[in-house]
Amino acid sequence: MSFKLPDLPYEYDALEPYIDARTMEIHHSKHHAAYTNNLNNLIAGTEAENLTIEQILAGVSKYPIGVRNNGGGFYNHNLFWTNLSPNGGGKPDGDLMKAIETEFGSFEAFKEKFSTAAATRFGSGWAWLIVSGGKLTVTSSPNQDNPLMDIAEVKGTPILALDVWEHAYYLNYQNRRPEYIDAFWHLVDWSEVAGRYRG
Ligand code: MN
Repeated sequence: MSFKLPDLPYEYDALEPYIDARTMEIHHSKHHAAYTNNLNNLIAGTEAENLTIEQILAGVSKYPIGVRNNGGGFYNHNLFWTNLSPNGGGKPDGDLMKAIETEFGSFEAFKEKFSTAAATRFGSGWAWLIVSGGKLTVTSSPNQDNPLMDIAEVKGTPILALDVWEHAYYLNYQNRRPEYIDAFWHLVDWSEVAGRYRG
């Protein structure tokens, strides 16, 4: 078995003006494709070939560092693309909104906490909303690490991800990561996040 680069569920220019078409094209067809190909090459002929990506990540400390970097890159971008939608933005409703209000006090307080996690992640990495022990938590991770990995400081099931590598925003925003984070909120597909929350 080998992992397959998923098609985007929208066109490269669908997220403009918040994320430009050229960034999306390079990010998907070069960066995400490279993580996918590298992962396949690294696991070819090993027992990991018969595992799901979630199983590989749960035991990632057993594998060479390249599996951590490229397996994380493969999984993280799969999640990221489906978190975004040209019809996104606004707020969640139902059980997810209730859980956000219970855990963070308000939707605005949650947004602030997540945005701060994304803005203060030094260098390359990701911000996450995860379900951990039945509760929502905001965290961030370096490089292509994620909360499914056995080496993660904060573990849980990711339901919302934001890529804060410079390759995700530099063409349009240069060093202005906070502007990219603000733009992200216009794209979040809350029905998708709620689906992942329900499990
Ligand atoms: Mn990326």
